[in-house]
Amino acid sequence: MLGMMQQRPLLLSGLIEHAAAYHGDREIVSNMVDGSMHRSNWRTVCSRAKQLANALQTLGVQPGERVATLAWNTHRHLEMYFAVSGMGSVLHTVNPRLFPEQVSYIINHAEDGYVFFDTSFASLVQAVAPQLPRVKGFVAMCTRAQMQGIDLPNLLCYEELLAAASPTYQWPTFDENTASSLCYTSGTTGNPKGVLYSHRSTMLHSWTACSADGLGLSARDSVLLVVPLFHVNAWGVPYAGAMCGAKLVLPGPGLAGENIYRLLREERCNFSLGVPTVWLGLFDYIERNQATLDLSELVLKRVVVGGSAAPRAMIEKFESLLGAYLIHAWGMSETSPLASIGNLLDKHQGLPLEQRFDLQVKQGRAIFGVEIEIFGDDGAPLPHDGKAFGDLKARGPWVAAGYYRGEGGEVLDADGWFPTGDVATLDADGFVQITDRSKDVIKSGGEWISSIDLENIAVGHPAVQEAAVIGVAHSKWQERPLLLVHAKEGQTVTREDMLAFMEGKVAKWCLPDDVVCVDSLPHTATGKLQKLKLREQFRTHRLPTDPA
Ligand code: AMP
Repeated sequence: MLGMMQQRPLLLSGLIEHAAAYHGDREIVSNMVDGSMHRSNWRTVCSRAKQLANALQTLGVQPGERVATLAWNTHRHLEMYFAVSGMGSVLHTVNPRLFPEQVSYIINHAEDGYVFFDTSFASLVQAVAPQLPRVKGFVAMCTRAQMQGIDLPNLLCYEELLAAASPTYQWPTFDENTASSLCYTSGTTGNPKGVLYSHRSTMLHSWTACSADGLGLSARDSVLLVVPLFHVNAWGVPYAGAMCGAKLVLPGPGLAGENIYRLLREERCNFSLGVPTVWLGLFDYIERNQATLDLSELVLKRVVVGGSAAPRAMIEKFESLLGAYLIHAWGMSETSPLASIGNLLDKHQGLPLEQRFDLQVKQGRAIFGVEIEIFGDDGAPLPHDGKAFGDLKARGPWVAAGYYRGEGGEVLDADGWFPTGDVATLDADGFVQITDRSKDVIKSGGEWISSIDLENIAVGHPAVQEAAVIGVAHSKWQERPLLLVHAKEGQTVTREDMLAFMEGKVAKWCLPDDVVCVDSLPHTATGKLQKLKLREQFRTHRLPTDPA
């Protein structure tokens, strides 16, 4: 017997209509590409999204057609989120930090009809344009006056397109499983692969983001959205923000510590989200200017950190310097991305801080909607004892079933699990702890050493800005850990100093065999350490412990 409830499809257009109707005045603040501040609200985002939908229709953009963006977090990019998906086309957010060859590969692979770009990426777009035969037009996301000097075929102006279009538009109704947006994974090896989200998957994900033990996003939050709109839909916050009517503060290209601090203060942000690198920059700024800053001006209470492991030292700093709680979350492009979130249980209330930090270092528990499990080499599930580690797999209605245009072939196993490529432990309460990417784990003799564990300890050293640990060939142990340290400005560290600092914080046999100081560490386009590059660079490094 079927239930007798209404079959209304879950469409993203419903989100922006709701935000306009019930949270119309709630602000959308943008730090623009030229450094100026721009103030909008959900009502205006909705009416401009309708203008853009009309303009795209006039340009001949079809349902299902992909429209690319190369853009920072600003109100215009947010308008595109709702206009393009709402009209039934597919928003393809391209990561502008990728190499030009990757950008053109991705745009061609997605067969994007139009490319919208911020003027800061004009030279990138100009460089790749000759390799993009299918693109019908390029749209500069600015006014006509700001387009000077941009030389592209079929170049259009965003503000002119909107000015010529009506704000009256009826969002179409279609199947909720229709594709809404497309994001390519950065992929450390091979070509990037597209994850194609649907209206339904995105909507379900948004509800979870708004739930109390999800991200707990609400109408009372002022959110500094540091995570880029081109990185897994900014972790779903543009949609969840519209669902609950949160204020969004969009930092544009202004991601340096000083600007993040200013936005937190001026916009009274109580909530923020971003990868660890951004927070390293914020704390670096705070520590260098502590004498002149009044930290009590900030009202930041919750910070979601994911994309890479949040080191314990960072969790402690948020607490001690800002009185803010770091919510450690894990996920990936293929999981939309929210999969596990570090909210605590009733029994953890009142835990001594040190014990609470022990829990916060883990990446939280699976949220309803995502099942996660760890498996051993034999394919059998491993015990949830916080010790056994194995391949982490996920499944659920907002987990990818495959990649766009069938890249990578069949990705799910017979039981519908998606292999994440991460190695993790699960404890009895279901807290997951990522020990490594499977290709980054260090295989020393028969044992595995977690590079993330060692990095987290190393960055606890007061002189260390960032650390990376990679496996280096060893004649006896197969691989041993090498610690690469990027020291804070004006500071130095030595091998002996680091090893002494780390001793006792990890089993002796896990300690790095060598420490090398470097001027900087390479990152991927999404801010993760580029271990592949480091492994190549240090492939021939001779460990002092190697007798051969
Ligand atoms: P992406 O698809 O670019 O978002 O990358 C996803 C990958 O980032 C995951 O498979 C993990 O390896 C890593 N990752 C994400 N969140 C965390 C976290 N909190 N701790 C450790 N690694 C993480």
